[in-house]
This record gives sequence, structure tokens and C-alpha cells, in this order.
Amino acid sequence: MISCIDYVEMCKKNIAAEVSGMKKPPRLVVIQVGDNPASNSYIKSKATLCEEVGIDMWHIRYGEGILPQELYANIQALNDNSDVDGIIVQLPLPKEFDVQYIQNLISPEKDVDGFRVDSKFISCTPKGIMDYLTDNGVTFRGKNAVVIGRSEIVGRPLVNLLIKAGATVTCCNSATKNLAWFTKNADIVVSAVGKAKILGPEYFADNQIVVDVGINRDENGKLCGDVDRLAVEEAYDIFVTPVPKGVGKLTVCSLAKNTLEATKYRV
Ligand code: NAP
Repeated sequence: MISCIDYVEMCKKNIAAEVSGMKKPPRLVVIQVGDNPASNSYIKSKATLCEEVGIDMWHIRYGEGILPQELYANIQALNDNSDVDGIIVQLPLPKEFDVQYIQNLISPEKDVDGFRVDSKFISCTPKGIMDYLTDNGVTFRGKNAVVIGRSEIVGRPLVNLLIKAGATVTCCNSATKNLAWFTKNADIVVSAVGKAKILGPEYFADNQIVVDVGINRDENGKLCGDVDRLAVEEAYDIFVTPVPKGVGKLTVCSLAKNTLEATKYRV
């Protein structure tokens, strides 16, 4: 397996090469409401990657005081703007906004986060994971895959993609009895729980591929995943994606891929 970082570098080169041959670069609009520090940092990494590959990213930031109706009208205007290929709304939004309603306002051809049911795009984190595994030569038919977590943005869409790819899929959640039995018997384990290092060596076995989606802080405030990676890699001949520099990078890369793909729908 090549590392997530090396894989993203390779994808960036391919995207940049394609963009450089276009008359008009892909344009992504990122809408933010307020000044959430985590959102600022996610938007910064999106902006950096877009710049690296030649995607033109507009960051539109509204104050917390913007009225929901005003935001809805602005999204509508962006849908109608033929200079815009992709639109995303950075979450979280202040609580008076209806997130699902807003996500469904973005037209399916511009919904590059892939949150609409009828979006033309696969949502970025599941797409990033599937592309990474597939491009690394991982096959799914006849493999047992365990996904821990059933959220709308990660667990559930990933389960569907793994099923479509031919894997035998089990989706676990907080009420799963004997989680270790499921994970130990899997070929591929994806953890999207969001609890620092809850999965130690007792959950794994040799020759597994483990994808760690969790973004957490450990007891020292350092970023870490759901998997206690060092302990697990010491115990087994196993591959575990790191946190940071793992799935987060794959996710941003998928956003760039989706934005490039969105140019197909230009009118
Ligand atoms: P979420 O909506 O909170 O879902 C967490 C899931 O984990 C739930 O289905 C929950 O089960 C399950 N769970 C909680 N404790 C468990 C346990 N002890 N054993 C088994 N399952 C357990 O979270 P999310 O939005 O999917 O995000 C998950 C993590 O991924 C977070 O750390 C988030 O920051 C990270 N994330 C990373 C990226 C990236 O780009 N790297 C993207 C998105 C999310 P129940 O359904 O039973 O409650």
C-alpha cells in the first residue's frame, strides 16, 4: 500500500495536468457562516489543495447574523451562475439553519460534497477511501469488510460503496455486542467512531487493512484516530492509515476530483 500522502500527491499531479489543459479552470465556491476555528482550518486545507491543482476556489464568508432566507437566495444565485461548477457549505452552521434543507438547495450537478440523495457525486470521505483502496489494488469480492459507525456522511455511504464493490459488509454501532469478534474476522476494517484510540490490538489480526476515519485529540491534546496505531502495528503485520495525514487528506482530494468532474455539467 502506498501512503495516503503519496497517493494524494499522485492524484494532485493528475488533476493539475487535466486542469492545465482546460480553457476555464474548475470553480468551487465554499460558503461559511461564522468563524468556527475547525471550519477555518478545514477551509484552509481545501484552499491550499485547490491552489496546488489550479482549481479556482471562492470562499464566501457570512457573519452569524445572516438571515436563513438570505443564505438560501444566495445559494440559488450560485446554482444559476454558469461560472460556478461546485458549491459546498462548510459545517457546522449556526443552529437556526436547516442543514438538510440547505444541502438540498444546491443543485445535484454542483453538489460536490455529495450530500444530496440524487447528487451526481459520491460524498468525499467515502469516495476518498474507496479510491485509495481500489487504486492500491485492493479487491473487494469475497472480502469481509467491517464498518464501525453508521452516520449519514461516512458509515452509511461507505457501506453502500463496499456492497456495490462486492464485499461482504457488516456495519457496527455503539450497541454492537463483541465488536472485537467482528473486527478480528474482517479483511478490511473502517472505523468512523470519533473516540480517541478506542481500538487497541485486541480488535485486530495479521494481514488486515485498517482505515481510520476518526479525528480526535488524545490525552495530550494531540490529533489521533480511533485506532491505537502504534500498538496495533507493533502487534501485527497490518496496515493502518495514520491520523493526521490519512483519511483527512483523501477527503480533500476527493473534493478536488468531484469539482473537476463537475465541469462536465457546464451549460
Ligand atoms: P457520528 O455521526 O458521531 O457517528 C459515530 C458512529 O460511531 C455512530 O454510528 C455510533 O453508533 C458509533 N459508535 C460510537 N461509539 C461506538 C463504540 N464504542 N463502538 C462502536 N461504534 C460506536 O460521527 P461521524 O460524523 O461519522 O464521524 C466519525 C469520526 O470521523 C469523527 O471523529 C469525525 O471527526 C471523523 N470524520 C473524519 C473525516 C475525515 O475527512 N477524516 C470526515 C468525516 C468525519 P450509534 O449510531 O449507535 O450512536
